[in-house]
Amino acid sequence: MLLHFIFVIKEEDYGKRNEEFQYVIHMGNFYKKWIKEKFSKDYDVKCDEMITGHRGLLERLDTNALLRDHRQRGEDTFHFYLSHFRPFWTDCTCEGYFAQNFAMIHWQKPKTTDDVMFLAEKNCTTVSHELSHELLRQAGYKKFKEDVHDVWTRHFYANLPFEQYGENFEKTNDKPMFLTMDVSSFRL
Ligand SMILES: [Zn+2]
Repeated sequence: MLLHFIFVIKEEDYGKRNEEFQYVIHMGNFYKKWIKEKFSKDYDVKCDEMITGHRGLLERLDTNALLRDHRQRGEDTFHFYLSHFRPFWTDCTCEGYFAQNFAMIHWQKPKTTDDVMFLAEKNCTTVSHELSHELLRQAGYKKFKEDVHDVWTRHFYANLPFEQYGENFEKTNDKPMFLTMDVSSFRL
C-alpha cells in the first residue's frame, strides 16, 4: 500500500518553498510510523511536488481537479494533496476534505519558511484529521466522521492537547516537530 503526499504549489512558488517541502518529506516518514502504531497499517510513503498554473498540470483549481488527478494516477494509491487552495466543499470542521483513498488539506504557508511550529500547528494537525477519517472508514469504523470531529472540537475547546512528536518521531515534551490528533479514543 502506498500513501502519496503531493505538495501542490503555484508556478511562481516553484523552487521557493523547498524548506516546506523538506518538512513534507520528513512528515511523510513520520506518518508512516504513526499509522503503523495507531492504525496497524503498513504504508510505503512517497512525496512529490505538483505545480498549478497555465504551464502546470492543473488548470482549474478545485477539488474536482485533484480528484481527477487522483483517478489518473491510480485509485489504488492513497493520494493526499497538500494544496495552496481550499477544498470547495467539505463536511469537515477544518480546511480539509477526504474521499475513498483521497484526502486534501489547505496547506498554510508560514511567514518564514523555516517556521516548524507553524507547520506543525496549522498543517500537520489537519493532516492527522483527514488521515483519521479515511483510515477509520477503511477499517469499518462506523462513526468515522462524527468521532473525529468530536475529538477535534475537544482539542480546540476543551484543552485536550495535541500529541507532540520530535524530529526522531518519538513523543516529546520539548518543542515538537509534529503535532497530531489524539486518536486513543478510537477503538479499532
Ligand atoms: Zn473532518
